[in-house]
Amino acid sequence: MDYDVKGHLHQVLDTLPKGVRLVAISKYHPEAYIEAVYAEGQRVFGESHEQELRRKHASLPSDIEWHFIGHLQTNKVKYIAPYVSMIESVDSIRLLREINRQAELCDRQIKVLLELHIAEESTKYGLTLDACRQLLDGGEWRDMQHVRICGLMMMASFVDDREQIRREMQTARDFFDEVKMKYFADDPAFCERSWGMSDDYLIALETGSTMVRIGTTIFGPRIY
Ligand SMILES: *Cc1c(COP(=O)(O)O)cnc(C)c1O
Repeated sequence: MDYDVKGHLHQVLDTLPKGVRLVAISKYHPEAYIEAVYAEGQRVFGESHEQELRRKHASLPSDIEWHFIGHLQTNKVKYIAPYVSMIESVDSIRLLREINRQAELCDRQIKVLLELHIAEESTKYGLTLDACRQLLDGGEWRDMQHVRICGLMMMASFVDDREQIRREMQTARDFFDEVKMKYFADDPAFCERSWGMSDDYLIALETGSTMVRIGTTIFGPRIY
């Protein structure tokens, strides 16, 4: 292994305050890199492609908590439902329904986050704030016994402007407080704010992130 995965992992872990969890984003990285980080005690990993996740889940230790972080097509839910720990990228009621249905077939409850679209870039997936309010106002999710909505996820714009990134994350933070008060005041499980990646996680920590998703800083550049 020519990249110091272990050293970089500890650099990241040393900067995280208590109560903030690291999701090590291992997409496109080989199993050996994941094993190196696992050996240091890391158990939460994130992947964004169903087939790659399937392969890694089959060959790596079973106590890894896999988070799905990519765009998820409804017809792929059935493949990850038996084992995935959290789906961070729920961006429609249709997808939520299908996760609930597949989780029921597996006799499980799957934790999910609602993905927000706040970034100005038009290529990003996710719910606008209004679409998210609409989904929650609809109330259908209240009867879904096999999904647990645990919080919100977002990706800030991929720009150099730190203030823009901070604004977007602060918008997500304010929206979290709104949603928490309005729909989840009595639900302690709704507590996760998943924002912050390699280039912006220090800003994320200042804007109340509870879960950072870091790939490149730990594993080095991805080879596609
Ligand atoms: C790839 C990815 C990350 C990690 O990005 P890095 O810049 O490598 O840290 C985080 N979140 C999502 C949704 C991603 O797709």
